[in-house]
Amino acid sequence: MVIDLQEEEIFRPPQPHESLWFPDGNVILATDNHLFKLYRSFLSLHSTVFNDLFRSANNNDINVERIGLKILPELYDGLPMIRFMEDDGEDVAHLLRAAFENNYYNSGNDDMPLRAIVALLRLGSKFGFERIKKDITLHVSRHYPLTLLEYDAVDNDGLPLFGRHRRDCHFPLLAVAYKAEIDILLPSLFFACSEYGVETIFRRTRSMGNDGLRILMKGRDALQRSTSKLVSDLPEQLRDEASNSKCRKKTSCLANACFSNLPDLIQPHFVNVKGSCVVADHLNSVCAACSSLVEEMIDVRREEIWNSIPSHFNLPMWDILQAKQREMVGT
Ligand SMILES: [Zn+2]
Repeated sequence: MVIDLQEEEIFRPPQPHESLWFPDGNVILATDNHLFKLYRSFLSLHSTVFNDLFRSANNNDINVERIGLKILPELYDGLPMIRFMEDDGEDVAHLLRAAFENNYYNSGNDDMPLRAIVALLRLGSKFGFERIKKDITLHVSRHYPLTLLEYDAVDNDGLPLFGRHRRDCHFPLLAVAYKAEIDILLPSLFFACSEYGVETIFRRTRSMGNDGLRILMKGRDALQRSTSKLVSDLPEQLRDEASNSKCRKKTSCLANACFSNLPDLIQPHFVNVKGSCVVADHLNSVCAACSSLVEEMIDVRREEIWNSIPSHFNLPMWDILQAKQREMVGT
């Protein structure tokens, strides 16, 4: 009896979707579990891939199987049927609902489940749903921004994001952005993933492929070297800055100041090497003028590290990516 039920579940044919089944639709899209009755003209409007597919007088002109679609030989209720061969039915449902249902996707909603965000970014790119791809890219870029000031404002792995914690989002979003070549998201995502240990990185990048993993590990090494150098230079820099301080004491506080427990910063989260954090947690007591000088000295070095991030991951520099982002916002 139990076996019969399981078999029934396994062989259950796809069913009409509860909301994306328009009685006067003129094409059927099928997945492993859903059937969608939609309008060809609307699909063409939203998707460059479906536009090309429907415009082609002879569908054989387009290698639909290369992108995981198959035009089925049989009709469904007299309508042509196109099957998604590679993609999960629920992921396709997220894509089509975002395209056809008002308010299904709202770019201000950070509670949308990560699974849906990843599906929209992946399938939006794959099937040329350009508006969806753009909206999700800009949405995600608010949480993985392109300036240090904005990054510092969101850099808290414990905060809720997309129905999870922010820390749970780094790796799935990196994998999809890497595959879809969405370069404005990549530096911050690579950077966020670089803060994790080797074991975590290997475990969480299985879907990314060796090339992406190699770039991540190479960039991570370079960043760790830069941060280690920043930390190891601190004592010497402190002495050099003593003469620049507006300290009111006869002998500048910095002449005798020293850092403590600096090795704790060698394996840091980047937020830990902020000037204000280093001064508060690792510098012995100095006056306000000396504190702010040291904070600034550290923040200049920290900004240099931030500026170098794209080059460590084989990406265009920030100003090029920022221009691309501005262009995207304007379209
Ligand atoms: Zn002082």
